[in-house]
Amino acid sequence: MNTTKAILITLVLAATTSCGRGQNAPRVVPSSTSVPVNLVSICGDPNILGIEIPDIRDGSSCGIDDPVQVYFVSGVELSSQPKINCKTARALRTWVDEGAQPSVENLNAYITKFHVVAHYSCRTRNSQPGARISEHAKGNAIDIAGFTLSDGTVIDVEEHWRAADYGETLRRLYSSACGVFGTTLGPDADRHHQDHMHFDTADYRSGSYCR
Ligand SMILES: [Zn+2]
Repeated sequence: MNTTKAILITLVLAATTSCGRGQNAPRVVPSSTSVPVNLVSICGDPNILGIEIPDIRDGSSCGIDDPVQVYFVSGVELSSQPKINCKTARALRTWVDEGAQPSVENLNAYITKFHVVAHYSCRTRNSQPGARISEHAKGNAIDIAGFTLSDGTVIDVEEHWRAADYGETLRRLYSSACGVFGTTLGPDADRHHQDHMHFDTADYRSGSYCR
């Protein structure tokens, strides 16, 4: 076994055993994910695996200081690896362990993958002209459109939010992020969030904003 392969396997094992649930079930990284050999624990948390990337600067209003690109959070793979700040990565980790995984226990499964559809982007809120700058433009936000479970089930926000089979689980999963993140927006919020959940770590003096 060459060194690169050994490192890769070690990292995958680290990622798949860091979650407290279902440790007997083998979890593998799909071949669609190309895991870089310099994947390390980041943000001072052994359960967040990714890479540190150079500061992002886009003009005067967009960018991230000390950004990271996250591949695994407590053993859950992120389908497209978000570029976010550590504050947001840590919030994601807290939510996985304390909110997201407990929310699917009734299905006798655990989450293996988040379907990430947006993260860093230099744009206004909901890409509306003249709107305030988005938390996505600061590395504070992540959009998740669905989840893959350990038994292969795919739960999709747009398809299942109001569905009889997974709707309740999905809404419980969403609600569990309120308070962990400063803002949570889902399909009940507005027309811009029918197919995903938006989570960000913006600070609101009046407390969390969850719709
Ligand atoms: Zn968003």
